[in-house]
This record gives sequence, C-alpha cells and structure tokens, in this order.
Amino acid sequence: MNQSYIINQLGEERENYFQAVSPPIMQSSNFTFEDISTMRESLKDELNTPFYTRGCNPTVAILRKKVAALEKAEDALIFGSGSAANSAAVISQVKAGDHIICVDKPYSWTNKLMTHLLARFNVETTFIDGTDAANYENAIRPNTKLLFLETPNSMTFELQDIEAVVKIAKKHNLVTILDNSYASPIFQNPIEMGIDMVTHSATKYMCGHSDVVAGVVCGSYEHIRQIFASEYMTLGAAISPNDAWLMMRGLRTLPIRMKYIAESTFKIATWLESHPKIEKVHYPFSPNFPQYELAKKQLKNASGLFSIQLKANNIEEVERFCNHLQHFLLACSWGGHESLVFPICVLYTSENYGSSTLPWNLVRLNIGLEETEVLMEDLERGFEAMKRCQVK
Ligand SMILES: *Cc1c(COP(=O)(O)O)cnc(C)c1O
Repeated sequence: MNQSYIINQLGEERENYFQAVSPPIMQSSNFTFEDISTMRESLKDELNTPFYTRGCNPTVAILRKKVAALEKAEDALIFGSGSAANSAAVISQVKAGDHIICVDKPYSWTNKLMTHLLARFNVETTFIDGTDAANYENAIRPNTKLLFLETPNSMTFELQDIEAVVKIAKKHNLVTILDNSYASPIFQNPIEMGIDMVTHSATKYMCGHSDVVAGVVCGSYEHIRQIFASEYMTLGAAISPNDAWLMMRGLRTLPIRMKYIAESTFKIATWLESHPKIEKVHYPFSPNFPQYELAKKQLKNASGLFSIQLKANNIEEVERFCNHLQHFLLACSWGGHESLVFPICVLYTSENYGSSTLPWNLVRLNIGLEETEVLMEDLERGFEAMKRCQVK
C-alpha cells in the first residue's frame, strides 16, 4: 500500500455518502437499530460497529484505518490526546507489583504517569540512559513487563537503538512501546523494526495545524482489541468526530509538510552550527550529533524539532533572544505550520516540569512551513538583540 493510496483512498466509502471527496463528520453520539437482533449483533464487535461514539464512530473509523496503515500496523485507536494514548498503552500492560523500564527524559507527562499515577498503584518504573541499549537489559527484574522508548526524545533528541532494544525485549519476553511523535509515521516506522506498540501525540505533525489535540496507539489486532475493551472504553478519552475529521485533513498533507520541514530544518540547523552566537546544536541529522550514525540508520529523515544552546552570559540574554523574534512564536507544543521557540528557562518556576536538569541556555526550535530565509533572518534578529544586552 503506497502513501498516496492510504492518504487519499483507504477507508473512504464514498458510495455511501454521495461520492463526496471529503467524508462526512458523523456528529452523533449514538446509533439506532431496526430491531433487537441487529442491535445485539452489533454489540459483538463494538470496536468496529457504530453503536456509541465513545467506542466506534464512522468518521473516526476511517481515520483509524489510515493511521494504522501509515504506521504499518494491523490496527490503531485514536484518542483525545497523545497523553491519553500513552497512558492507555502503558496501563494496558501492567498490574500492581509490575515493573517498567523507561528511557530517561521522556515527555513530561509520560514521566508523571509513571512516577506519580502508576506509582500509586504499586507499579514501579526505572528510568535509564537509553543511549546504551544494554541499560535496558541491566535494569530488568523478574517483575519487569514493559520497555518504554521515546526516540528521539523531544528536548535533547537522544536516540535509542530500536533494533537492539527489540532484541532484548524478545529475549526476555517483554512488551515494547515507542512514542514516535518526533518522527511522525513518515520518517520512522518502529513496528517494522519489531516494536509492539507505537504511540503518537497526533497534536503535533499528524494534525499539523495547531488546532487539534489528539493521540494514537498503533499495534496488533490483539493489542488494540485488548486496549479497546479496557482502557479505551473505561478511561473514555475518545476523540470527537469533528477533531477526527480535522486530523484526517491534516494527514492529507503530512508527507509534503514533512518533506518541506525536513529540508528547511536541515538548512537552518547546519547554518546555526557555525554561527558565533551558538554554543551547541542538538540535531540528529548533523554529522556532529553523537548518535548521527544511528539516526541515519533508523530515521528516514530528521523532523523540524531541534534545540540550540546559546552562547549567552545569562538568562536575560536568552530572554532577549526569544522576545525579539518576530516569526518564531513563543509557545509550547510543536509540529504545526508555524515556527515556535521554547526556552528551557521558562520551566524553572513550574512545579509540574520543575527540577529540570537541562541547561539554562537551551532553546528548542520548531521549524514550520515559512520560507527558510525568513526564519534565518528572524533568528539573526534574536542574536542581534543578545549583543545589545552585552554592551549595556
Ligand atoms: C506533546 C507530546 C505528548 C503529549 O501529547 P498531547 O497530545 O499533548 O497529549 C507525548 N509525547 C511527546 C513526545 C510529545 O511531544
């Protein structure tokens, strides 16, 4: 199945809705039946039969097919957020007394899920440096059930060697879940490399327009059926039909957006590497990146998210850099059409994200769909503002 077919045809049953190119938004919470026997029959497969929209909705069903195919998975579930997707996938694999091994520095709310919520239910997590796959194996205990990966991570972009971790998991009969948000299904397909379940914050690239919060879990029919029957239906973090439709519209342009963003980001990141106001660039597709070879091996391309460390004397200079940018918007999140800047020093007062061990001069950039030159000019504007600070 090629990408064009998946994005433009798969799952669409146009003969059922006036041959409309764009599918209808089935804005209905429930579905009616002609008689009891058909109603009873439909309950046998609530995952795939419209009965109640928390379970199955026809607009969401089209999206599920496309998302699963893009990730080369058998099936997928769509959630109301990436955090809901990660939580459902992780919770589905553990019970009280179990142990998880997770890469250190995962997404902040993945960390919270493990350190706070699951800890309350006597599920323990060990966080390991994932740059050496052996650390996963060394942390295994008799009660370990799950290895969690996020590669690259979304602040400093350390990678885990997917094939090496899969090998360890298979040897010890453990389940693997990988948060693939950074790469999108266009640049990395971990299920092909043996990972059991892939999650995404679809809020980022898959939706791509900074107007929807959504998440996905992809995996085998068995894993998806299991999550559906429990976490998906119980926790109830379903996506609305309207948001599912917006996500589908996002997918129509996903490959072309990723292509443009990757090209633009490569130009900007390599330009920044030799810039006098830059101390360091964290970008997986730079030959200077410590895991460059691994990045080239398991990623088809690097996406638009990377970090820089400014050659700044103090936080005020970092702030001046960010405050003087005109095109880069000062905001969290990423993966949308618009370029963003997110300085780590913003987290220093937040309880939820606090105790950051990341360098104070670290600034994360999200490259959007603007002209590359316009973005470079804008960054130069920020660097100039830093210098003005020095002479004062
Ligand atoms: C944003 C993000 C999430 C959470 O997704 P939401 O859609 O915001 O709930 C999970 N993982 C990664 C890597 C993210 O960047």
